[in-house]
Amino acid sequence: MGVALTLMPLAIEVAFVLLAVAMVADWIRQPDRRRGYLALAFGSLTLLVLIAPSLGAASPYAEVETDVALALFLLSGYALVMFRDSFLPLGKRVRRAVTAVIAVIFVLGVAAGLPSDPEQPHSAYQALVLATILTTWVLCVAEPTITLWLASRGRPAVEGARMRALSLGYGGLVTVIMVGTLGGSSIRNPNTQLALDLVTLAIVPLLYFSFYPPRWLRRMWSQPEEEELRQGLHDLLTYSRDKVTQAQRALGWATRLVGAAGAFIVDSDGSILATQGVTADEAGRIASRTEGLARARESGPPAQRNLLVVPLELQAGPGAMIILGGPFTPIFGDDEVLRLKQYAGSITASLDRVSLSERVAALEKAKTEFLNIASHELRGPMTVIKGYLTMLDAGSLGEMSSKAKSVLPLLISKSDEVNSMIEQMIEAARLEEGRLALNREPGDIVELTELAIQDVTPMLANHEIKLDKPRTQISADVDRERFKIVVKNLLSNAAKYSPEGTLINVSISQGDGSAIVTVSDQGIGIAEEDQGRLFTRFGRIEHPSTVHVAGTGLGLWLSREIARMHDGDITVESAPGRGSTFRFQVPATV
Ligand code: ADP
Repeated sequence: MGVALTLMPLAIEVAFVLLAVAMVADWIRQPDRRRGYLALAFGSLTLLVLIAPSLGAASPYAEVETDVALALFLLSGYALVMFRDSFLPLGKRVRRAVTAVIAVIFVLGVAAGLPSDPEQPHSAYQALVLATILTTWVLCVAEPTITLWLASRGRPAVEGARMRALSLGYGGLVTVIMVGTLGGSSIRNPNTQLALDLVTLAIVPLLYFSFYPPRWLRRMWSQPEEEELRQGLHDLLTYSRDKVTQAQRALGWATRLVGAAGAFIVDSDGSILATQGVTADEAGRIASRTEGLARARESGPPAQRNLLVVPLELQAGPGAMIILGGPFTPIFGDDEVLRLKQYAGSITASLDRVSLSERVAALEKAKTEFLNIASHELRGPMTVIKGYLTMLDAGSLGEMSSKAKSVLPLLISKSDEVNSMIEQMIEAARLEEGRLALNREPGDIVELTELAIQDVTPMLANHEIKLDKPRTQISADVDRERFKIVVKNLLSNAAKYSPEGTLINVSISQGDGSAIVTVSDQGIGIAEEDQGRLFTRFGRIEHPSTVHVAGTGLGLWLSREIARMHDGDITVESAPGRGSTFRFQVPATV
């Protein structure tokens, strides 16, 4: 017990010295105001702990020693208030008042000539001054304990934890001084003394952890964020919103992850894509200052950063996420840098994904615009060509040689083919732009199918057409023109993709509330694995015999869309070399 009692004060002194050295070293590494106050607070407290044992001893310098101790004590209180002020600013007036009060109390303390030995009897005045000194100090430290704790409520996990830790640190300091005061007074019971020393010693690591949180503790703080972060990352990678929204979300998570005060993302073109906790102007200023520094900072020791540049290797060029440390940012250590770098990969992927979808959308738009322009430009000349061909065929432009006349049907069939392609292009552009509105009215699909066959007769000239139709009409609410477009497309495909002279079978029927038109050919057929691609936009299937067959790859896609807009559908049954059967169905009316 005796040994413990002698060793304890020594252990406490060593612990305090280590603590102060750590704080001062941190301040030397990063000489900012906040760390300066912390170093000052712990430096003065440690000196106080060191000179305290010699205070009671009779010495010619006892008076001076007491004054120095008083100065150190008040200085530590002052530094702790200023440290608190660097997190939650007190305001100029309060700051000045605190400084003045502490200075006055110091003067009063010196003037009161406090006895260096606490055991010596005090005059009433001296007791009052001593009580004032203690109360002032306790107020300086107890106020931040409460304020920081209260301010931590409702903050994101990392920031909140940091503030609670600081609050605990302040609380710990109050306890140390209380214990010290108690210990210094007339406690004669060695057990109690030992217990008090143990409490003081135990508080030292607490002080260290709360003012200078180590990596494992910071990791623990960010633990609650991790699960949500995983969800956030999933969201980021799954949904392609616009780039700014995506960047904004990414910043939200990044700042929460390290408890940063703000952050922003610089796009590959140098523009500020999104900001959080800073204005776009500020971000621009920081970005221009950071450029070039980025590399240096990246390679610099992590402790020297209260600003972190995380490179984003975007496809369009290098961008960056810049994280700004704030009052409650625990620290930017290796761990945080690593986490942010991992996170940067996801941000890059998500931003690239949005850029890519934006580019694809722009290309799609350009394609649709091209379809629109090309089809409209082609329509005029083709109308003229078809008009003159019809007039020539009818003999309205005079007699033609029989040789010239013999090529007319082919010319008419080819111009019909081009016209039907133009029609498909116009309709496809309308569909893509959401302008394809159906004009449904009651109609007879038998009649409409026959009209469609008539329209494409020249194209079917080299095939045998067989039509199976019911005796009665089949009623359906359809857009007459669009219905015909679908049937014409199926017929022209049957002709295009089957050898000349083969049979094309068209059958019109009704069943299960549907009006059905099936078009069967004896053509090249379609392999099962290609059938999924038939109804896609621009989807054409390569086949040696059809390389010279004209087509846009839009017909079946458009036809199925039109069928579906009618609450119907188009399906296919086919096998290579065995022909194809397309079944077009719309709801029938009773
Ligand atoms: P297009 O005929 O203008 O190329 P479609 O969308 O009408 O476009 O048809 C898409 C592709 O489906 C065609 O390029 C062709 O490869 C295939 N196809 C369509 N109809 C048939 C058919 N009756 N027999 C065999 N292949 C067909």
